[in-house]
Amino acid sequence: MDDFEIEGKHFYVKRDELIDPRYSGNKLRKLYSILKAPSGRFDTIVSYGGTQSNAMLSIAYMCKSKGWNFHYYCKTIPRWLKEKPMGNLKMALDLGMVAHEVSPSMFYDRVQTLESEYGNGSVFIPQGGADPVAEEGVGILADEILFWSAKAGLKSFTVATPSGTGTTALYLRRHLPSGIDVVTTPVVGDESALKTQLGKLEADESRFPIILDSMGKWPFAKPKKEYLDIWRRLKDSGILFDLVYAPKMWLELIEAYELLKGPILYVHSGGVSGNETQLEKYRYKGYL
Ligand SMILES: *Cc1c(COP(=O)(O)O)cnc(C)c1O
Repeated sequence: MDDFEIEGKHFYVKRDELIDPRYSGNKLRKLYSILKAPSGRFDTIVSYGGTQSNAMLSIAYMCKSKGWNFHYYCKTIPRWLKEKPMGNLKMALDLGMVAHEVSPSMFYDRVQTLESEYGNGSVFIPQGGADPVAEEGVGILADEILFWSAKAGLKSFTVATPSGTGTTALYLRRHLPSGIDVVTTPVVGDESALKTQLGKLEADESRFPIILDSMGKWPFAKPKKEYLDIWRRLKDSGILFDLVYAPKMWLELIEAYELLKGPILYVHSGGVSGNETQLEKYRYKGYL
């Protein structure tokens, strides 16, 4: 657990991005149950999502280390990117991932049938690893937080992590006692979209994490000046974060700092391998 200070405010940071540099921190947690299975148990992993997804790259590393095939379904890849793959896509392809392109209008129908199409010996992982299989590993993250807080003599504090699918925040909420608040912010879509996602894994809304969203909706991974600014200030304060998820969570935490149950522990979920292509977008927009 690192001490971290930004704008005169103190935080703790759980450095989950450092556990294994090949994996995005929380993707390692979410893949834990599958990773610990013997290699012979499966031969193929099937998943779908964006072409720069952190989950995609983490699954590609897992499949490489296990000797499993990895079939990944994504929307049509632009020609320039296909000719010269970059970032997470390049790394995943180099690891042996087989990319299947689907036209955007057919995409969601197509991915519905994947699970039944790949039979025995295969594992289907929904977009972003939003699946009950993620609970075991996130539960271990919660145990590590509890172990630390017991040693530090802390009973009441706040754990913060940004949400894509919300799976990490939801299972942290489930595995931490009620004296500890869990807060998150939606980075994909708005609060109601996040609640719909959470509802797929938890029927009881009272067991959802607290959602902070003073900034409102912004298209996923679209450059935003304020995101770049806070990302730089975080970096100058000593920790490199990802440019897609972390900036919004930090802006919300700084805004709500006095209202939250302190101290605040931020779970760093990695994703820094995506910074190269994000920075490229900022450059293209003229922010850099
Ligand atoms: C995937 C990811 C998230 C979102 O995790 P969910 O469990 O889908 O909410 C947050 N931060 C980083 C860096 C990620 O890679």
